[in-house]
Formats: sequence, structure tokens, C-alpha cells
Amino acid sequence: FRFAMSAGRYAPSPSGALHMGSLLAALGSYLQARGQGARWLLRIDDLDTPRVVAGADRRILDALTVFGFRWDGDVLYQSARRAAYACALDALLATGRAFECGCTRREAQAGVKGIEGPIYPGTCRDGLPPGRLSRSLRLRVDESPLCFVDAIQGRHCQILSRDIGDFVIRRADGIAAYQLATVLDDAHQGVSEVVRGADLLSSTPRQMALQRNLGLPVLSYGHLPVLVDADGQKLGKSRGALGLSADAIADQLWCCLDLLGQNPPDTIRDAAVPRVMRWAIDNWNIELVPRVQTLDAQVYQRSS
Ligand code: GLU
Repeated sequence: FRFAMSAGRYAPSPSGALHMGSLLAALGSYLQARGQGARWLLRIDDLDTPRVVAGADRRILDALTVFGFRWDGDVLYQSARRAAYACALDALLATGRAFECGCTRREAQAGVKGIEGPIYPGTCRDGLPPGRLSRSLRLRVDESPLCFVDAIQGRHCQILSRDIGDFVIRRADGIAAYQLATVLDDAHQGVSEVVRGADLLSSTPRQMALQRNLGLPVLSYGHLPVLVDADGQKLGKSRGALGLSADAIADQLWCCLDLLGQNPPDTIRDAAVPRVMRWAIDNWNIELVPRVQTLDAQVYQRSS
């Protein structure tokens, strides 16, 4: 019964149009869910209002539909969940798991180097210094190793106090941080397996720490390789690289299947979209996905 209730999800930020990199991520998460007969849910990560582009959510949903994706239930918008985030933030603060931080960005970055930037130096950990106003909220982390076995990347461990530091869960602009919102929404939507780009691999231990602190279930994870440009930069929606085109849908799906190591037959390269998707679901094997964190997007350009 639990098996039938399992669910995956795709959670694009509405900061621009989908491109080949987003299609690859959407497809990997879709096939991993559908290949197991699980539900596949959609969420629009529209909290970071400075980056939201008006109408991009609709265009993303339309593109997913045209490319043959079918999701279960209603689309969840993070902007509708602010009350839930506020509740969780209050609870973390009340139990001392989170603390108020009055540091400016510059002060917070004065610490030693971690894997994603400086480790928070601990200035406000034991209370705001006199005369300081609270700006953001941070989660108090510790030195226990947080490990998981990623379905694609294998075993991954972090010690948050050494690698990341006390991290922001409510930003100085009052917006719930990505780490907090995603953990609450994955639990709220009943997601059991998260499949997304490997650019978020190093976020997973922070999300596990939040799950632990909030008493939420631990999830399974699979981090897909992300498409990068010639400079090694992830293709970005806001930069509009390698856009999708409506007149080569099966071909673009085929290329993503190829990049995902699924060995799609040439016969489906110009087949009708439902047939391509049927083949992809029936033949999906996550074991075949290349165990790397990045793939050169030029591979696609050459093959098309
Ligand atoms: N909204 C995030 C992005 O577009 C993905 C969040 C997630 O999958 O956890 O990169």
C-alpha cells in the first residue's frame, strides 16, 4: 500500500522558459515516478519574488503538457504556503533550534571557507549582540554526520557544522528560504522520492537536518547530471539557453533520454509524443543514468 502512495515531484522556479536542462530534470523525475507506478506532482517555486517572471508558470505548465507530461492533482504554488512556513519558523525559534541573526551579509561571510561559501562565524548563535536588530533566521547545526545513498550519485555525507554552518531559513527580506520551503512542501505533498539536478546535491543534508528538526519523514533522493555550457555553467531559465522548440518535441525527448543513458531506439525519434513517453516509462532504468554531476550541453547541439 505504501508503494502505491509513493510520489515524485518536479518543482521549477518560474524565472523563465524551460530549456533542455529543465526538460532533462523534469523527464528524470517523471520517469522515476511513473516507472514505479508512483504519482508525480508539480510545484511552482515562486517564493523568490525578485526572480519570478510574470506568466512563466503558465508557459512552463503548457510546455510540460505539450511534451507529454501528465501530473497528479493540483499544482502547488509556494506563494500560497507562507502561513505554513511562518508556523514552522516560529516552532524552530521557540524550541531554540533556530536563532535570530543580526549580521549583515558581509559580517556573516567573515567565517572560514565551507563547501558553498564561508561558514557562519556564530556571532548571534547565543543571542543577538546588544543593540542589534534581527535580520534573518538561521538553523543551528551540529557536528553529526548526515549521510544518504543517492540513487544516482551514490553515498554522500556532510557534517553541517564543518561544511556549511548555521544556515539561513528565513531571509533578511522576510522570504522563507528555499531549504525550509522545499522541506515543508515535499512533506505536505507526500513526496517520497526527490529526483532533481545535481546542483542541489549539496543542499540535501541541510534539508535532512530540517526534516529531523521538524519531525518530518526522511525522503529518498536521486540527483541527475545537469547540463552545462562551454564555461561549465548550468543552463539557466533566466539566461534562455538551448530553448525547447515545439516542432521537434519527440527529437528533444529522445535527446534527453539519450543523455540520461536510456539508449532510446532511433524508431521513436520522430514518433508521436505519447509513444515516446510510453517507451520511456516502460524502459526507464535509473541505474543507466551517468553517475556524473554535469553533462556538456554541446553533446545535444551536435546530435541535433
Ligand atoms: N526550484 C528549484 C529549481 O528550479 C528546484 C527545487 C528542488 O527540486 O528541490 O532549481
